[in-house]
Amino acid sequence: MAKQRIVDAQVQRADKRPAGSPLRPRRLSEYVGQRDLIEKLSITLQAVCERGEPMEHILLHGPPGLGKTTVAHLIAVEMGTRAYSASGPALTKAGDLIGTLTRLQQHDVLFIDEIHRLPPAVEEYIYPAMEDFKIDITVDSGRHAKVITMALRPFTLIGATTRAGLLSGALRNRFGISHHLRFYPQEDLVAILRRATEVLAIDEIPISALRVIAARSRGTPRVTLRLLRRVRDFAHVRAGGRIDEQIVGEALALEGVDELGLDELDRSYLRTLGQTYHGGPVGLEAIAATLAEDPGTLEDVVEPYLLQIGFLARTRQGRRLTPAAAKHVRCSPPPPDAEPHRSGESLFGPNSPRPQPAVVARPRPAPIIHGPVES
Ligand code: ADP
Repeated sequence: MAKQRIVDAQVQRADKRPAGSPLRPRRLSEYVGQRDLIEKLSITLQAVCERGEPMEHILLHGPPGLGKTTVAHLIAVEMGTRAYSASGPALTKAGDLIGTLTRLQQHDVLFIDEIHRLPPAVEEYIYPAMEDFKIDITVDSGRHAKVITMALRPFTLIGATTRAGLLSGALRNRFGISHHLRFYPQEDLVAILRRATEVLAIDEIPISALRVIAARSRGTPRVTLRLLRRVRDFAHVRAGGRIDEQIVGEALALEGVDELGLDELDRSYLRTLGQTYHGGPVGLEAIAATLAEDPGTLEDVVEPYLLQIGFLARTRQGRRLTPAAAKHVRCSPPPPDAEPHRSGESLFGPNSPRPQPAVVARPRPAPIIHGPVES
């Protein structure tokens, strides 16, 4: 029952950094980077507000930590309405979605994270809700079954996904705005760090130290803010609060973050590809099995940045290590005409056990938040 999953804003606070966190931008004008998206949204926001219409439904896609949730909450702020959050896999039954939709007030925002994991039976209820602001509910069953159409208050659905390709065409086509968020350049991350140091009252941190943190943040605001907090703790305990390039270097070395921003999982991925599979090409499932990791985590969290910095090539035959990556993890690059590895065949003798697919529990879906989120 949807009711049993109602949680208060405290739960969301613990779960993900909240909309009310001082580190989140408070207005769209404070949002750093992604300028084409912000410009597009500002124009549409001004137009719909002046016409008294709800904001267009928006699909935001891109790797985790780039600001999709933040944008959703800022749109509610700019509309002067409230944002409600839910997660695709947690909306297991149509009743969950109906309960959420019927609570929305005029022009409220419903944010659905991981919308690609919405069950198909629930997804079907979303179509008329998005298009005509109504839902058809079947009451009773058999001969007595009746369909009741319920009108909804005009609202905005904002869907976020790391895998736009897994969305059905029918759902994708119902979004008026669809945007892919890109990794942030270093100067944008420095701007995010400067604002965070003011909010966190971290005094006298030289810009050169911020640049080092930004350069090792994988182009991702969530990573950059996390590294700043780790550096602050390290400086507090080991250096009397003083932060300079050297302290940043020592703190990040302790975190296992190298000069390119790669962490232990990235390096294990590259080493597996380079050493176990001789640089590839090899399928993602085989790499995941060797690392005992979830293929989805590797695809969403590890691979996008490795592709971005040219350490990984995705070919029709599978993943290949590039010469730059081979140099970084000190193994020989694959020959250009290497045959694809079929998992477990060429590298493991006929009597050796084949790598088994990793059995990794998916993270538990975040509960539905029926209360308005602070913004
Ligand atoms: P996603 O939903 O894409 O996983 P979030 O919106 O949760 O990412 O953002 C992760 C963190 O990064 C948040 O704490 C937010 O404060 C910060 N952040 C993201 N984008 C920006 C930005 N453009 N400017 C400032 N902070 C940002």
